[in-house]
Amino acid sequence: MNSEFKVIKDHDKKFIKIKCPDCGNEEITYVRGSTEVKCSVCGSTLAKPSGGKYMIRGEITGTFE
Ligand SMILES: [Zn+2]
Repeated sequence: MNSEFKVIKDHDKKFIKIKCPDCGNEEITYVRGSTEVKCSVCGSTLAKPSGGKYMIRGEITGTFE
């Protein structure tokens, strides 16, 4: 499966849970705009910084302050 990256807003400095579109693993990551996040199970890139924005691939299933 090949999902597009989407820009997310208003998630800066929060923990988000991303569901990997390739293997279904849920990865919790802290968003601060400069870290690339990879799935710990299959290694797919789930989130990456891009031009001051933050791109997410996969479904966001939760946010935490
Ligand atoms: Zn995965």
